[in-house]
Amino acid sequence: MVYADNAATTKMSKIAVSAMLPYIENFWGNPSSLYSFGQKAAEALVCAREKIAACICASPSEIYFTSGGSESDNQAIISAAKIGARKNKKHIISSSFEHHAVLHTLKKLEKDGFEIELLDVHVNGVINPQQVADSIREDTCLVTVMFANNEIGTVQPIAEIGGVCRARKIPFHTDAVQAAGHIPIDVQKQNIDMLSISAHKFHGPKGVGVLYARKNIPLTNLIEGGAQEKGKRGGTENVPAIIGMAAALEEACANMEENNRKILRLRNKIIGGLKKIPHSALNGDGEKRLPGNVSFCFEGIEGESLLLLLDDRGICASSGSACTSGSLDPSHVLLAIGRPHEIAHGSLRLSLDENNSEDDAEKILQVVPEVVDYLRSMSPLWKDKLIGKREFLLPE
Ligand SMILES: *Cc1c(COP(=O)(O)O)cnc(C)c1O
Repeated sequence: MVYADNAATTKMSKIAVSAMLPYIENFWGNPSSLYSFGQKAAEALVCAREKIAACICASPSEIYFTSGGSESDNQAIISAAKIGARKNKKHIISSSFEHHAVLHTLKKLEKDGFEIELLDVHVNGVINPQQVADSIREDTCLVTVMFANNEIGTVQPIAEIGGVCRARKIPFHTDAVQAAGHIPIDVQKQNIDMLSISAHKFHGPKGVGVLYARKNIPLTNLIEGGAQEKGKRGGTENVPAIIGMAAALEEACANMEENNRKILRLRNKIIGGLKKIPHSALNGDGEKRLPGNVSFCFEGIEGESLLLLLDDRGICASSGSACTSGSLDPSHVLLAIGRPHEIAHGSLRLSLDENNSEDDAEKILQVVPEVVDYLRSMSPLWKDKLIGKREFLLPE
């Protein structure tokens, strides 16, 4: 099997699994207990918090454990909105291609009287910091822009956007779920006030994540309960998962350069090969993108059929985001970069990691063009294009 869907989830690393096991089998005490058996778990949490803080240049007291990227996004945005509402500031700036954990939270706030301004992400999928500067108003209470996009992999100028927000004293949140463990994060240098990460996107376990919140940002509780996470997130900590997350992030950050050299070589080879398919287009900027992301549109085919045929041939890939497959709507990300509906339906995302090999790349480059050809040969729409009854939308 060729696994090329690492933006959806990743395989757990051996180091993360072996870090977790003792806390499942032996040290299963409650970290809130006073006896030393519980304190063993509490000490491991202290250590995990320190490791994670070090990976993003934060201080351990600014790290809050959550159930994953979605919860972190919700808590960050709702916290900033609550503070804003108290001062009658109800304008929020974001972008049109955020993850649904951000977009749907913003939709809910809109119903509560907030004004949501979604910035245009242009054909290359990159926001210009000047757009943020131009949109900030007296009543802006939050800017939330994702670090790297989960579908087309484009990386935003986060330090510059953060700088604009800092100068105007507006809290800046970034969904860094696709960035953490893959590209460098420094919340100090990049002027980030809040940041969301999720362990299962960097070879850690599922169902655990982090919200980083700078010291001066008061968080709102989403989950009421005990005094865990300084009272900001009740519930007994998922100790093994948190320890697995810390081990995975530490490993990913230590090996980042070496992994990325390999991943980039494979990615560029695949992009170069797929570009040769007639009437195809790479989605998103060619340079400002995650090392592992390949995202294409192929005219005249349907993404779901492509995925099923690739699955038959042993390739795991994705079309649009995992959260929207199952619905017939084209990806909001591809529409945001201006792809027409018809083209947006024919998309393919391959997301690589360091476990992918040259053989995987060869197989992808052999199978994808064959499957695209096959699907086109069956399509009445494609025939119409060939005989000139319909126009081609993507150049040859
Ligand atoms: C996967 C993902 C999320 C959601 O994270 P979960 O831990 O699965 O809740 C949020 N944002 C982005 C950009 C993602 O890729």
